[in-house]
Amino acid sequence: MEDRKKNSSIQCSVTQCEYNLGDEEYCTLDSIEVGTHESNPTMPECTDCNSFVLGSE
Ligand code: SF4
Repeated sequence: MEDRKKNSSIQCSVTQCEYNLGDEEYCTLDSIEVGTHESNPTMPECTDCNSFVLGSE
């Protein structure tokens, strides 16, 4: 866990995620997949990070 490096291209405030660098609010993955749970997304709230994994803390 401690060797994880932030990906400066992916800011993320979801600190509950296993891949989040909580102190800095960045993702540590090289890439993520973003999707939607809506049939016709119209706002940011309609989108999801499909790479999310619940952290183990
Ligand atoms: S996988 Fe998604 S939710 Fe998790 S830290 Fe990265 S961008 Fe955030």
